[in-house]
Amino acid sequence: MFKAVLFDLDNTLLDFLTFKKETAKAAASTMIKQGLPTTEIQAYGKIFSVYDEKGIEYQKTFYEVVKQYDLEINLAEKIQQAGILAYLQRKAEVLRPYPMVKPTLKKLREKGLKLGIISDAPRNKAWQRLIITGLENEFDFVITHSDTQEFKPHPSAFTLALRKLDILPDAVLFVGDNPSRDIKGAKAVGMRTCLAKYGQTFKGSDISDYEIKKFEDLLGLI
Ligand SMILES: [Mg+2]
Repeated sequence: MFKAVLFDLDNTLLDFLTFKKETAKAAASTMIKQGLPTTEIQAYGKIFSVYDEKGIEYQKTFYEVVKQYDLEINLAEKIQQAGILAYLQRKAEVLRPYPMVKPTLKKLREKGLKLGIISDAPRNKAWQRLIITGLENEFDFVITHSDTQEFKPHPSAFTLALRKLDILPDAVLFVGDNPSRDIKGAKAVGMRTCLAKYGQTFKGSDISDYEIKKFEDLLGLI
């Protein structure tokens, strides 16, 4: 009998990959209009090359892209800032929870379950994403990389969540899209695990107790 359900954030509660693709397209198109001497496809590719190299949370992506063209300093700044603004504008338009997330969370809470998040995102970005998607008041707690300075599957965030909940790990269900970070980490502290197949972008051997193809399928596990 579960007493709490904990979630990963990106690609589990919200469609992070679509958001990153759409914002990269918007930024590439805008930077070219402002004078970046390349094609949209190449600029898009360069944005994702920076994400691959530095991590998808890297905060100086557009600077790294523009720098490669060795432009005059004010032209470079104009293009970079236009890219950042296009990214932010598109972010507010495309960042959404997966279908049925909000009503499903409500039903879980009505069943008396505690709800929490364990995310590898920085604290400020996690809260921005929760506010944009309207999920900012749905959880008892939000643990981010800023709380522990460790990434999943390191046990620190999982054990911090167990201390907050004050319940035994096998009464906690952890839901995530990444087998080697979410599932492995939660399992190592004794939580039950559920792989969010709809958001899975990472390969890895799946050792989860359950799998869901749609978010609302969680209700069948509780
Ligand atoms: Mg994820």
